Amino acid sequence: MDIHEYQAKELFRAQGIPVPPGDVATTPDEAEQIARKFGGTVVVKAQVHTGGRGKAGGVKLAKSPEEAREHASRILGMQIKDLTVERVLVTPAEEIASEAYVGIIVDRGSKRAVFMVSAEGGVDIEEVAETNPDAIRKLAVDPRYGLLPHQAYSLATELYDDVKQQRATAKIMQQLYDAFVEAGASLAEINPLITTPDGQVKAIDAKVTIDDNELFRKPHIEELRDSSSEDPSEVAAREAGLTFIKLDGSVGCCVNGAGLAMATMDLVKFYGGDPANFLDIGGSSNPEKVVNALRIITSDPAVRVILFNIFGGITRCDDVAKGIVTATQQIDIQVPIVIRLTGTNEAEGVEILESAGFSAMTDMDEAVKKAVQLVTREGK
Ligand code: GDP
Ligand code: MN
Repeated sequence: MDIHEYQAKELFRAQGIPVPPGDVATTPDEAEQIARKFGGTVVVKAQVHTGGRGKAGGVKLAKSPEEAREHASRILGMQIKDLTVERVLVTPAEEIASEAYVGIIVDRGSKRAVFMVSAEGGVDIEEVAETNPDAIRKLAVDPRYGLLPHQAYSLATELYDDVKQQRATAKIMQQLYDAFVEAGASLAEINPLITTPDGQVKAIDAKVTIDDNELFRKPHIEELRDSSSEDPSEVAAREAGLTFIKLDGSVGCCVNGAGLAMATMDLVKFYGGDPANFLDIGGSSNPEKVVNALRIITSDPAVRVILFNIFGGITRCDDVAKGIVTATQQIDIQVPIVIRLTGTNEAEGVEILESAGFSAMTDMDEAVKKAVQLVTREGK
């Protein structure tokens, strides 16, 4: 789950990281009032779940409350990478002497949270990683001990020569690690971490991504969710209790079990197709879930064929078959459906489908091949 910059800054402040104050506005009027309250120059910042807002024109300095209002009216409603800006953060502008990058991500290779720091801040870290990888220093953190003081200090010396700034930064890194763990994050990033002309070190941007699997035990973090910034099909799937991830292809996949769903996507690719989604209807035998799944898959206009791949264990094939029949009565489905059913109550399932005019296969390979053929034959 992604959260907004203003929310991430709140999590950072709670750990003591120096972050300039700020308030959120949903109208130009509000932006003007907030700017007036802070006085002086402010920054008006689009709150959307993506970086690169500066480059897209979503971060603007304003020398007066009137100018803040003008910027807000331009930024509110703006599209940045397909996301509509509904809120802006108004924050006092800082004078910047230098910009650095400090981030933590969960690294699958080392199976640890890994710190990444670079004196080349302000730009995308992916860009630095590509053009100048030596400019990034990495450190894997042992979860038993956290970021130890000497490690934090060593990272900080990578960024600054000034001892005071090194000490301040070492502290910020330990606080960032605490914020990361406390939030159940998979990523926590300060880009840029700035120094001011009078030598202070501050975080003026904040990005935090939460590991979805942490949310059940962190209700205060779940509260930060902004569904209006999420893909509507993923929101609908979550509400229906389905595990769903939208992808860019044209083969809509409806599968029970995460492993089988992955294998199905691999096979779709193998035969030259592209999956439109990952969808795990789970282990239950609830026909309602199938109806919801089909509704979500068919709401994607890119879907040209729907592929069911059901391995009946706890999930019963006859229940899934009933779900498919019910769903096709309730939803006007314009694309072909290819069904593969095998396992518990397979014969009953096939019979239900056949008497409703569908055909069903039992071989996974054949079913996937057929689904992909239908898409390619349509001349996608
Ligand atoms: P991003 O583009 O989405 O990562 O948004 P950032 O918050 O990182 O802002 C982009 C850039 O705008 C920063 O790298 C700074 O150069 C500039 N910027 C942001 N806030 C301030 C500020 O308070 N003062 C000044 N002078 N520049 C700022
Ligand atoms: Mn940034």
